[in-house]
Order: sequence, then C-alpha cells, then structure tokens
Amino acid sequence: MTLIVQKYGGTSVGTVERIELVADKVFAAQKQGHQIVVVVSAMSGETNRLMALANDIQGEFAHGRELDVLLSTGEQVTIALLSMALQKRGCAAISSTGAQLNILTDNKHNKARIQNIDADRLKRLLDAGNVVVVAGFQGVDDEGNITTLGRGGSDTTAVALAAAAKADECQIYTDVDGVYTTDPRIEPNARRLNRITFEEMLEMASLGSKVLQIRAVEFAGKYDVPLRVLSSFEEGPGTLITYEEDSMEDPFISAIAFNRDEAQLTIKGVPDQPGVAAQILSPISAENIEVDMIVQNVGSDGNTDFTFTVHRNDHNKALKVLENTVKKLGGGQIGGDPNIVKLSIVGVGMRSHAGIASRMFTALADEKINIKMISTSEIKISVVIEEKYLELGVRTLHEVFELDKAKAERNQAASA
Ligand code: ASP
Ligand code: MG
Repeated sequence: MTLIVQKYGGTSVGTVERIELVADKVFAAQKQGHQIVVVVSAMSGETNRLMALANDIQGEFAHGRELDVLLSTGEQVTIALLSMALQKRGCAAISSTGAQLNILTDNKHNKARIQNIDADRLKRLLDAGNVVVVAGFQGVDDEGNITTLGRGGSDTTAVALAAAAKADECQIYTDVDGVYTTDPRIEPNARRLNRITFEEMLEMASLGSKVLQIRAVEFAGKYDVPLRVLSSFEEGPGTLITYEEDSMEDPFISAIAFNRDEAQLTIKGVPDQPGVAAQILSPISAENIEVDMIVQNVGSDGNTDFTFTVHRNDHNKALKVLENTVKKLGGGQIGGDPNIVKLSIVGVGMRSHAGIASRMFTALADEKINIKMISTSEIKISVVIEEKYLELGVRTLHEVFELDKAKAERNQAASA
C-alpha cells in the first residue's frame, strides 16, 4: 500500500471551516487506498500571537525552553481539531504531538534539529487503519524537553516523517498551487512548473522564493523523498521536486529567481597582497554577518578593489566593521549600496550549454540595465543590479528564455 505524508500550513488550517475542508481532502485520499500521515501547522497567526505574549513577559526576544513549551501548543490545537473533523466523517484518526511520536531532536531550544524518528509507533497506528495527525514544528530532546524546529519548521517535520517511514510521496499543501517560473505578481505570464530538481529548488529557495523551508528541501534531497507542492484550495498536480532524470530533457533554464534583501559593500584601493581578503572578511563573519557574493578585482599599481554583498539588515553593521578594517589596513575607501537586488537564472540544463550567460547579459544590456556584479555556479547565473530595475529585469529574462512557453514547446524550438 502506498504511504503519503501530507502537510497543511497555517492558512490551510486557519479557521474551523478550512479544517473541515482539509478533513474532506484527507479522507478522500485515504478512501483511494493510501495510508495517510497528516502534518499540520498552527492556525495562521497563532505562532506570532504566542511569540508576542512571550515577548511581553521576557522582553523583545523571548527564547529558551519555556518558549518551546508555549509555541508547541499552536500545533497541538490543530491536530486535535483535525482529528475530530476526520472522526466526525467516520474516518479513523488519531492525533500525536512530536514527543508522542518520538521525534527526537537535539536540545537547541527554538531551533532544534531532528536527530532520529522511531517510525514503529507511526507504523502501528497506520496499520491499525488510522490517519495519523502529527503536530509539525516540534520534537523532544533526550531528556524529555519539548523543542521546536524554527519558524516554518512543519515542512521539515513532514519530510523527516516521510523519510523515516519511507513514504512514497511527501505533499506540501499551501496557498500557492506549485513552484513557478518566477513570481507571478511581477510577471503575469509566469507558469507553474510540473517538475523541478532538488538542486534547482535549493537555488531558488536561497534566492528568495519562499515556497518551502530550505531545510526541508535539503532533507528531502538527502533522503530522496519525492516532494510535491500543491494548493490546499484548488485541485491540480502541483510541482514535483525530484532528482534529475535523463528523460526530463530540460531546456536550459527553469526559472528566474530574485532576492531583494541584499546590500552591496565595496572597499577600494586596498593593498594587493596575501591575506587581505581574509583581513576584510574575518571581522565580518566574527560579527555573524553572512556574506553572499564576493568579487575582487585584478590588482593594478599594487592596489585592488573588493566588493561583497550581505543581507540588507546587516548593511550598516557591516559598514562599521569595514571602517575599523580600513584603519587597520592603513588605507582604502569604503562604499556601500543598500538598494541593490540579485537576479538569477536557474536551470540544470545550463550545465551542458554554453552561450546562456551572453544571452542573459545581452538581454539586460538591451534594456539598459547595468550589471554591477556577476556570480555563477553550475546551475545558475546571478547578477546584482539596481533595485529599480528588478521588475524590468525579471520580465525581460522571462521573455528571452521563453519561460512562458511549455517546456516541450521550448525544446522543439531549441532543436529546430
Ligand atoms: N507554526 C510554525 C510557524 O509559524 C511552524 C510552521 O508553520 O511551519 O513558523
Ligand atoms: Mg509555513
């Protein structure tokens, strides 16, 4: 018998009416002859509400063991309500908290990582004919303390359960009907992708496409759990995230991703000698500032320029660190620009095709969009541009790479 893990996010269980709709979907899937595990988030807004209560008492950044005891209650509400709704329909269902299912984590409260899941209890409950309704986002450490997995952690719970129980598919139900070629709010011709690879999805997730928690995608890739993103509200096949198959015959580019949350920092005229890059970046990382792109120029006259990007929230902090560094290095002018964005094309197909980069750069140049930085990996090319050109850049690349056309059509055009 096939085993399917379904996960429903906060908006999908945000009201009693929506919980009833979820119960209909779950019961229908069970009637088709599948064993079903359902992972749910807290009702939308609930985790934020609980956080705010804790902040009122502990100050702005509540944390620690008791916060986990508090936050885990949000999911405990939805597992009980959904189980009741299933039982009302004549569907055998049983709720389970993370601890009751032995979802063992480390003891890092508020951002715990799952270490082990003993699937025996889950299997027994399923084999007895139940739909098992599991609280997402939580587990228990080896001393019995309740832990939570970090915001958005229910995706990870679902994937981890699917891996532990060797499920045939892990379905993430959300308020969008799949992964798109780009953000449809910017490009109305964006299309839902039928399939995408784990690698591509990871690039897209880290590039700011917030459909799935990145950790969940990593986990699914590591344990080879087929992952499907679909809508809670509309019927449809969604997007399947899997390993690359030869038969996928992808055209070069799968999607255009972007990230508005970046800022650029430059230091000009630093000595071109060994150790300088480390001297610039070590104090940055010592301040826990994450660096994304890094570019150093070819030196001239014994000096060189060094540019990198950080999260926009870290821009001012990074500037201060650089001021110190310049003093130590005994030279250099600092510049920064918080109004930049990263725009990327992503696709496993570009591995084997030259000419993609020049097509991208030409398209941007034709629109008079200046490229400030470039970085590449095997399956993506990213450029930094001014924020005001983001929408134009996205639409231009979407059109040039014909992402509005179905893959089959594009393949035909490419081989013609
Ligand atoms: N309820 C938690 C949150 O809002 C976990 C989740 O929804 O995945 O972050
Ligand atoms: Mg979520």
